Amino acid sequence: MKPPLLSVLVNGSKGRMGHAVIEAATAAGVTVGAAVDVGDDLRRAMTSCDVIIDFSSHAATRALLETAVALRKPVVIGTTGHSAAAKSELRPLAAQVPCVWAGNFSIGVNLLFALTRRAAAVLDDSYDVEVVEMHHRFKKDAPSGTAARLLEIILAERKLAADALRHGRQGITGERSRSEVGVHALRGGDVVGDHTVLFAALGERLELTHKASDRGIFARGAVRAAQWVVSRPPGVYDMQDVLGLT
Ligand code: NAD
Repeated sequence: MKPPLLSVLVNGSKGRMGHAVIEAATAAGVTVGAAVDVGDDLRRAMTSCDVIIDFSSHAATRALLETAVALRKPVVIGTTGHSAAAKSELRPLAAQVPCVWAGNFSIGVNLLFALTRRAAAVLDDSYDVEVVEMHHRFKKDAPSGTAARLLEIILAERKLAADALRHGRQGITGERSRSEVGVHALRGGDVVGDHTVLFAALGERLELTHKASDRGIFARGAVRAAQWVVSRPPGVYDMQDVLGLT
């Protein structure tokens, strides 16, 4: 079945992802009805659009959701950098409209999520888990939203709390405990996004790696999510739902 013709509002339109989303929407035959960035009138722009795709700043999410709820517009949120507390505070608001909220819109990364869940379930705690991510020098938050999601999956499978996370290590740290999960954020150059999950035991090591080389993958995924979410009932969905991986 052909997806319906849509008019999309792109929030954060002057940024790297904003540009990529405009390109991906145009290529998919989706109309970019409004392109909004800092200082523009979001509410006015939103009235004439069917769905919003947001890649802006975590500080903008509350106002964006409040406006979308008031105007009953479906939303796709790609922005990352929210604290766990901010996310759980915003979720009930997001749930009032059809909303896809995903830290990563690539198909490969969503498969990485599924593979990580499987590996963490099969490999017991004699396998130390570490997550390493690398992004371009302009990225403003760390660890990445994708790394945060991988960590959520690992903590859930291992039945660990958030205090198991070790963000980098320095000094006399002592031997590694079985219950810790290391997180390492590398920054530099123009790297679009690399993520590796390591499972290291005595005698063997499994590494699951995804490397993004073109932010078009996220933009195409976000446009696909926008096409999907417009016909869904209110609620918060992720990319696993859009791709049918759940
Ligand atoms: P960027 O800095 O290049 O662009 C952000 C844009 O948002 C800028 O033009 C900025 O002026 C605008 N902006 C900031 N506050 C705004 C507001 N209140 N209203 C409207 N526009 C506002 O950043 P980027 O590389 O395009 O990334 C944007 C976000 O998307 C980041 O949080 C990044 O981590 C995230 N991201 C998510 C995915 C994913 O798949 N979920 C992929 C890549 C990037």
